[in-house]
Amino acid sequence: MKHCEVIRDLIPLYVDGCCSENTRTLVEEHLAVCPACKEEYDLMKNAFTELTPAPPAKSFTRLKEWKASLLQSVLLFASFLAITFGVAMEAASPSGLLNGFWAFALVIPVTGFMLSLANWYFVRLYKSRKKFVLCSCLVTAGLIVAAFLWGLWHYEAFDAALFLLRPQFGFLPLTLFLVACTGGFANLYAKWLGKE
Ligand SMILES: [Zn+2]
Repeated sequence: MKHCEVIRDLIPLYVDGCCSENTRTLVEEHLAVCPACKEEYDLMKNAFTELTPAPPAKSFTRLKEWKASLLQSVLLFASFLAITFGVAMEAASPSGLLNGFWAFALVIPVTGFMLSLANWYFVRLYKSRKKFVLCSCLVTAGLIVAAFLWGLWHYEAFDAALFLLRPQFGFLPLTLFLVACTGGFANLYAKWLGKE
């Protein structure tokens, strides 16, 4: 039957969903009355379904997005607690050479880290996860340096600040630790959001 030949040429387009409304009606009408073509159609339809990768389960994706948001929230709250603790310790410290110790050793670095979390809202704008992680680390480091400079100006204590820069006072180690944390957590965050 010549008609069957035409229909069989059209079946791939029909299965793919790339044919016109008229073609679709034509194929459907024929499949309803021709068991041979219907069999051909079923075979092709099954092959097509196997070839098309199934999208990831929606609940699975949602769970990961939920985990990413939770991670960001936990980091925000942990930073806030650390800052509150640092401010309380600073207030309780007697004035003198160590004026600003808790500010430089804890409040300033953690504030930089906390503010860098704002960059995470732009994760989808980055071309790759690697770029997002790198930029997040740079943002954290940049904000901490900016906050440190602000601290110098605010406390007008250059000698004390240089003294506080010594490793035993924790500013540099904590900064490096927070930049490393940013890298690790930002990577996890972007991964959970499906960023390649
Ligand atoms: Zn037919």
